Amino acid sequence: MPGSLKTEAIVLRGIRYGEADRVLHLYTPERGRVSAIAKGVRRAKSRFGGRLEPFFRLNLVLYQGKSDLMTVTSAETVAGHPRLREHAATIDGAARACHAVDRLFGDGEPHPGVYHLLANLLALLDREPQHATRANALAFRLKLLLAAGFAPHLASCASCGEPEHLVGFSGAAGGVVCGACEAGSFALSQEGHDFLVAALGLPLAEAPDAGPAALQQAERAILDTLEHHAHVRLRGVGAR
Ligand SMILES: [Zn+2]
Repeated sequence: MPGSLKTEAIVLRGIRYGEADRVLHLYTPERGRVSAIAKGVRRAKSRFGGRLEPFFRLNLVLYQGKSDLMTVTSAETVAGHPRLREHAATIDGAARACHAVDRLFGDGEPHPGVYHLLANLLALLDREPQHATRANALAFRLKLLLAAGFAPHLASCASCGEPEHLVGFSGAAGGVVCGACEAGSFALSQEGHDFLVAALGLPLAEAPDAGPAALQQAERAILDTLEHHAHVRLRGVGAR
């Protein structure tokens, strides 16, 4: 049904199209990920100015014609995150976060929680660039897993329910596993386990830190969970 859609959106990525246009991947609270074309946006005098760039949070009017690709008809800035763009580490953190949302939530299913989580992360990186850490990027991904319904089981053995002697993590089992069920798992230290629990439970701005080995285990836990349950492979979060 042709018509206009008014929505908030975060620009995940832009792809050059034709001579002066750009196709945008947008994340919206009510429609999930949508694609829209911004016509003439790469011309110097575009009426959109520099607003239709990755990491912008916008109020948009999109026109939906007969095709799946909508057209941007107006754009107002809610938050441009200018300070985020001043540091390589915050740009990298924001880019990896947008890429993860683009990959994991590209099916058009709405997840308002994902929208608010991404908006929170971008605002945090803009306000306090020191949060562009590996630990914070992992905490963000854990929260994405939770929003997608793939949160790892951390309170007891994911295979047999044993509450103690949890020694490994298994993506296939869906969480931590005990000594009797450790086949197919990798070793998870107490520090790595504690990090996963705290990172899932605390707000992003309070995400805990941990040593490099524990963060490495946490990253592997996240990637294994994604591969087994979402059939998605993501790039790592970077070495910071
Ligand atoms: Zn077990």
